[in-house]
Amino acid sequence: MPQPVVTRFAPSPTGYLHIGGARTALFNWLYAKAEGGTFLLRIEDTDLARSDADATAAIFQGLRWLGLEWDGDAVSQSANRPRHIEVAQQMLAAGTAYKCFATPEEIETAREAARAEGRSTLYRSPWRDADPATHPDASFAIRVKAPLDGTTVIADRVQGDVTIRNDQLDDMIVLRSDGTPTYMLAVVVDDHDMGVTHVIRGDDHLNNAARQMLVYRAMGWDVPVWAHIPLIHGEDGKKLSKRHGALGVHEYQAQGYPAAAMRNYLARLGWGHGNDEVFTTEQAISWFGLEGIGKAPARLDAKKLAHLSGQHIAMMDDAALVSEIAEYLQVAGLPALAEDQARDLENAMYCLKDRAKSFPDILEKAHFCLTSRPIEPDSKAAKLLDEAARQRLGELTPHLQDAIWTRDDLENRIAAFAEQQGVGLGKLAQPLRAVLAGRTATPSVFDMMLVIGREETLARLADFTSA
Ligand code: GLU
Repeated sequence: MPQPVVTRFAPSPTGYLHIGGARTALFNWLYAKAEGGTFLLRIEDTDLARSDADATAAIFQGLRWLGLEWDGDAVSQSANRPRHIEVAQQMLAAGTAYKCFATPEEIETAREAARAEGRSTLYRSPWRDADPATHPDASFAIRVKAPLDGTTVIADRVQGDVTIRNDQLDDMIVLRSDGTPTYMLAVVVDDHDMGVTHVIRGDDHLNNAARQMLVYRAMGWDVPVWAHIPLIHGEDGKKLSKRHGALGVHEYQAQGYPAAAMRNYLARLGWGHGNDEVFTTEQAISWFGLEGIGKAPARLDAKKLAHLSGQHIAMMDDAALVSEIAEYLQVAGLPALAEDQARDLENAMYCLKDRAKSFPDILEKAHFCLTSRPIEPDSKAAKLLDEAARQRLGELTPHLQDAIWTRDDLENRIAAFAEQQGVGLGKLAQPLRAVLAGRTATPSVFDMMLVIGREETLARLADFTSA
């Protein structure tokens, strides 16, 4: 039986969930789901100076928004420190690592000499093969014994075979002279102990893989399957930086994109399935495989995100939209929906989601049902509400009073009235829209009248015509 797949996301808590990290998390999550495996989360918080509880909470929050729930409890790398030290000691005992007593000054002097002679500046410790009898009574670092010649091949599922000459690998330190384990050791020990079978991460870690293999080899552990994904670039094809706009996933959430659209977008940043652009998460799970990951860096594409968002909004269930919008309002620091507003929003959703590309688009169109009388027109709407409009809408009112309030009946009555007045329907609908919504970007006047009902429609008309 093949071994069950175990993937992990191992972010360093830097304060927020970076879009690149979110994509890495998604790929690991998708792969685990696709293979019926497990997706684990490990917070790489050994750099305690930079790590704090808020930064970890921000990662949890970002992952939860995206629906990327991890299995079991999140692992804290710093809590595993005793185990990291134990493994370094085991390597020492097995002779696959050694004590190095070189001081930082000695190492620097050796490097300078190498530089002056034009040799490689990789540090070669004189303690590698020293007789323990010659060991001083001083503090030491533990270094892994790297092979001196030959090559190390990383069989990467995205990059192909990546071959590194062993003479380019130094005897890296696994335990510093102050007794603290290095990051390179911690990652391998944790991945091994967590039973990780597939390491899917950014290709900025490809070089680390070669060094991490030294630890796997020294401990005689199975090497995981590697899949190093090309990093995400900005729209201009350059390395991602702040000037490319939103980098934290919370910023996308605060812009009002549905989580399903963001998952779709993140999946397409570097992975593909034929020509499929718009897909559900269930589809992504059923299609996902490492062979679908491209070798070229993906580019951010704000237009594509907006397009996908519009498609997902159209596909989403109305109640689900309302609950995501409520969450969005909270994250964006906007006033929450009252209970009746949430109900009205859901009732109106059928005529709001059409062509909306984000939650703010929906809310803008929803103004007519979220606001209450007296309706304050914005400046564009106010321009339509002149004396002629007042008169005309005053004359329309009795026709609406008699209506039976179905779409057909309302359409017929308004069309008949327009004809009787000798004006186009648009001429009538424009001020009516302004009166009902106080806005100019709204659903059709018929949808608005049906959603708010007869009484409210007539009251809004009366507020204007009898003012
Ligand atoms: N903690 C590393 C980072 O945030 C990831 C390490 C790994 O995936 O092996 O970039």
